[in-house]
Amino acid sequence: MVLKTIKQRIGTMQMSTNCYIVIDNIQKRAMVIDPIQNVKKILDIINYNSAVLDYIVITHGHADHIAGLKNIKEVCDAKICIHRLDVDGLSNQDKNLCEIIGIDNPNIEPEVLLEENDVITVGSLRFRVIHTPGHTEGSICLYSEGILFSGDTLFKRAWGRTDLPSSNFPQIIDSIDNKLMILPDDTIVYPGHGRVTVLKDEKKIYLNLEPY
Ligand SMILES: [Zn+2]
Ligand SMILES: [Zn+2]
Repeated sequence: MVLKTIKQRIGTMQMSTNCYIVIDNIQKRAMVIDPIQNVKKILDIINYNSAVLDYIVITHGHADHIAGLKNIKEVCDAKICIHRLDVDGLSNQDKNLCEIIGIDNPNIEPEVLLEENDVITVGSLRFRVIHTPGHTEGSICLYSEGILFSGDTLFKRAWGRTDLPSSNFPQIIDSIDNKLMILPDDTIVYPGHGRVTVLKDEKKIYLNLEPY
């Protein structure tokens, strides 16, 4: 498996967003998670590996995670996948915060509506959808043995904001405690912002939290 990270600061955001490109380098199939505006760089990496982009997976419908969506969709045939509860984040500015963050609203329909335990297949690689509401109601993480793409649900030493439309603090803690912290200790966590971490290094924070 080839896994590349591209970081870009989107609009008025202070921190950069992590866009991940996953390639099965034997079967030459690819997936992009949360496309940034630098679509040329995404496509260069996929083309360099002679792969075909099958899926564009959106961890949740916020502007900083969909900034390159429209442009990448215009030049390739990949299917857009998002949890059904965050679909309106691809078009509704009150939900996706495009105006506030200062990017064009993609106003686009997804091809695939994701549900808990759906499996996204990229060549011989399999990624299980974990529905982790809290940052938004339709936030997802993607798990494959040893790796977790955690969107804006779990960061290194922090959880995602819960002061945004459809956010819910008890829900994000419940998602992290009951759906992510049950994964193997040595799972490498690739978040939507900031640096990579290892699940066991995050566990102590959540084990020490008082019940809400
Ligand atoms: Zn977000
Ligand atoms: Zn974000």
